[in-house]
Order: sequence, then C-alpha cells, then structure tokens
Amino acid sequence: MDLVFSEEALQYRSAGHPESPDRVKKAHNYLKDKYDVKEPVQASNDDLLLVHDEDFVQRVKEGRFSDPDCPKYEDLFFYATLSAGGAITAQESGALSIMRPPGHHAGRNFLGGFCYFNNLAIAVEKSGLKTLIVDFDAHHGNGTEDIFLGKEGVTYLSLHRSPGFPGTGRESHQNAINHPVSATIGDEKYLDLLNEELQRLREKELEQLALSAGFDGHKDDPLASVGLSTSAFKEIGNMLREVGIPAFGVLEGGYVGDDLGRNIDAFLRGFNAQD
Ligand SMILES: [Zn+2]
Repeated sequence: MDLVFSEEALQYRSAGHPESPDRVKKAHNYLKDKYDVKEPVQASNDDLLLVHDEDFVQRVKEGRFSDPDCPKYEDLFFYATLSAGGAITAQESGALSIMRPPGHHAGRNFLGGFCYFNNLAIAVEKSGLKTLIVDFDAHHGNGTEDIFLGKEGVTYLSLHRSPGFPGTGRESHQNAINHPVSATIGDEKYLDLLNEELQRLREKELEQLALSAGFDGHKDDPLASVGLSTSAFKEIGNMLREVGIPAFGVLEGGYVGDDLGRNIDAFLRGFNAQD
C-alpha cells in the first residue's frame, strides 16, 4: 500500500484549528521518501451526489452552513473535492490517501467534526464493490454510518472512544457494528477486540476493505486517545492484510504531526508486511 497526496492539501488553514496543514505536512515529509506518492484526481459533482443530497452539496459550495468545527475556507469546495478525489484515486490503486479535510463525520445531509464531504463513502459507492469499512479512528464515523445504514453490500465496523465526540455509535444496528471503548483500553484489549471482529466478519462475502484510517487513538493524541502505542498501528495493518482482500484507505484524524508520520508508517509497514 502506497500513498495519495497533493501539496494543495496544505494550502488552507484556520488559526488554532487542530485539523491543521502542519499535521499532514509533517507526516508527508516523514513518509514521502519511503513510499510512492500518487496525485489525486478531483471528485466531480456526480461523485459527490453518489452519497450526498444535491441541496447539501450546493450549501457547502455556497458556504451556507454554520459549524464551529468546520470553518468556511476560501476555495473550500476545491480542497474538499480534491480530498474526495484522493479517496477515489486510493480506491483505484489500493493506496492510502493522506489528503485533508477528513470525511467520516460528513453524512448524507450534514457536515461536522472537521469534515465536509465523506471521502471514503464516495469512493466505496463509486466502486460498487461489496465492502467492509473498518473505521479505526478514535471517533465514531457518524457520517459514514448515516450514509450506509441499511445498505446491502456494505458493512461498517467502528471502534471508538466513549464517551466522546460526536456521541453516536453507542450500540450496533443493522449493518453498523459499533464498539465504544474506554480512553484507557490500550493495545492488548483493543487489538483483541478488532481481531475478533475481523475474524467474524471475514466470513461475509467481501470484495474490498475500505479503511477510515485515523490515528487519534495514539496515547499522546490530545483529542481522542485510547492509549494505543505506535506498534499497535503496525499490528492493525497486519490484521487488515490478513483479511486477504484488496484494500484502500483515507486519513481521518491524528493531531500530533510528528506522531502522525510514525503511526502511518507503522500501519503501512504492518499492512505491507515489512519490518
Ligand atoms: Zn478522530
């Protein structure tokens, strides 16, 4: 698994916002000589409409929304559709897109939690493949659950800190398998739980894994730590490779730039079976 990235993702910022260009810039600097890096395509309006309502897309385009977590950047629509395009390129090439903004809190009709469009959901829907989404960001992907709840051919699995933002995902329903975990769960119990679910879900007829790859569960993350070490991300990569089907992913959270590069590297080394 290699990377999808464009320097364009570093061109917008909001002062003091934790979802900053610096986090991804540091990660990209750490990773760029270790992996091939592909440029993303731009998602089209039709791509957005695969999972979002037309009125919602229009509202984002015109800046008709208000959410303190989702600033109205100049040229936001350009950056958000490039990040969505990053997910499409990642799906087509079995890569991890480290574009920003992230996406898993964006639902069919709503934005939130630093997310405007649901990058991963767009790529999953566009692929038309039977998909297991594994969301190992330490927040619940309420947007992804909203988009795919009850949809045949897509299963959503999330492990996330509870209590925590956005407060959803306290129980499983239909095709959404939610595991709230404590802030102190740590490597061993977290990995056992993930492994158990992956063993169970691999019995399903699956064509691909789609990964909401969030690294804010790391022990030093200020937003959503669940006490994971860097080597836990390597083990997550290992487990996902062992499912044995094509996979792609997109970056969600992870808010300490220096840690983010190391944690993504550990995940990719696990997935790629490298030391
Ligand atoms: Zn998160």
